[in-house]
Amino acid sequence: MQPRSLPSVDAVLARPLAASLRARFARPLVVEAVRRVLDEARHGARSAVAPSDATRASDDASPDAILQRAAAWLEQAVAGRPPGVVNATGVVLHTNLGRAPLAPSAVRAIAEAAAAPVAVELDLATGERGERDRHVSEALCALTGAEAAAVVNNNAAALLLVLDTLANRREVVVSRGELIEIGGSFRLPDVLRKSGAVLREVGTTNRTRLEDYAAAINRRTALVLRAHPSNYRITGFTERPELRQLAALAHERGVPLLEDLGSGALIDLETLGLPHEPTPREALGAGADLVTFSGDKLLGGPQAGVVLGGAALVERLQRNPLKRALRVDKLTLAGLAATLALYRGAADLAAELPVLGLLHRDATALEALAREACALLRAALGPGFSCEVVATRAEVGSGAQPTLELPSFAVAVEHAQWREDRVARWFRDARPAIIGRVTRGRFLLDVRAVRDAADLVPRHEAAPG
Ligand SMILES: *Cc1c(COP(=O)(O)O)cnc(C)c1O
Repeated sequence: MQPRSLPSVDAVLARPLAASLRARFARPLVVEAVRRVLDEARHGARSAVAPSDATRASDDASPDAILQRAAAWLEQAVAGRPPGVVNATGVVLHTNLGRAPLAPSAVRAIAEAAAAPVAVELDLATGERGERDRHVSEALCALTGAEAAAVVNNNAAALLLVLDTLANRREVVVSRGELIEIGGSFRLPDVLRKSGAVLREVGTTNRTRLEDYAAAINRRTALVLRAHPSNYRITGFTERPELRQLAALAHERGVPLLEDLGSGALIDLETLGLPHEPTPREALGAGADLVTFSGDKLLGGPQAGVVLGGAALVERLQRNPLKRALRVDKLTLAGLAATLALYRGAADLAAELPVLGLLHRDATALEALAREACALLRAALGPGFSCEVVATRAEVGSGAQPTLELPSFAVAVEHAQWREDRVARWFRDARPAIIGRVTRGRFLLDVRAVRDAADLVPRHEAAPG
């Protein structure tokens, strides 16, 4: 990069444009913004490098160009929220991108709950204090056949609450094939330890028999825990008892059984042409005393953790002081309730619940979307870029259905001079950022989780001058 002469902070702040920024933002913040942009320019470490870079080098150092970039930084700094992005990764439930997009009715419910008081813990019939989870409990029980439900921040919290309530300083029997890591530092053995439970491993990685469990259950046993292999598969020479058999054994020995389902599919996914995923209703029907799952995976709601089970056990969870620390707020309750309302009442669930709609899309529609996006990109991208539609394999994500490959299509974008990671960064520098993936040396914009072809056309902050 060529050395440039940069204006001083004072020279930048003397421009008329600076006055308009100072009318909107506190002076020290405006000064900080200008300093940052100047520092960045000095070190050549600019975050947004447009293709017309070389031709813009002189404009870039002008006071007004500095101010434009300072203005962009100020918007971000003050907004301070995670920037909106377009999910072109081909991973429908992307944990790093906030997982499930919510249904419009859930978004409305959250906005309404945010703006005004809500009777979260007030029983309007009696005027007395009410149970926080009761609104969503009723829907959850109706949808799953459970007796009772508790809702906390996420599924990790749900597990922590169950383990702390039932298994503190006592043993939890888990198969060695299920001591899983979910990603983002969630490891089942660690959560167990944190809750004060003592892990009692049984069986081997690939095979655990009913007798292994039977031999491990003793008077210190508090719980038998089964983790649904949501984000991995053990294939080949494998064995594990049916849930029904394991529950029968646990009950014979007077110990409850918890099934951690993870994904939380409330409907039979086969109706959407996807492989079967065990539902809470099935797990409870097979004898699980408690089941836990996430609200923002296949369920398609806000981040939450749900525990379902018998009334007496769930009541113990509700009385644990830890529940207070893990409880959800009115926004989550509103979003979850609205999502569950769709499960109960929507005539066409896949049409109304975005997650299921995205998973249900057929390849023909996806190919048409990719072709449309490719044409738009060809028209919008400068010289040096080339685009091509390619067939891809997308995935559900968040550990759900790990071996399933969803047929999809992508626009492969290449640039004559740039390596694929630079192309990726250039799309990431757009606002909103467009997040694709690099596969075999090519940058791909997968359309599986994209709504509109136009969303894939990057918009960079207007070139100054
Ligand atoms: C995703 C997952 C979790 C963690 O759920 P969060 O809602 O992300 O906390 C726990 N167990 C299983 C089996 C999972 O798939």
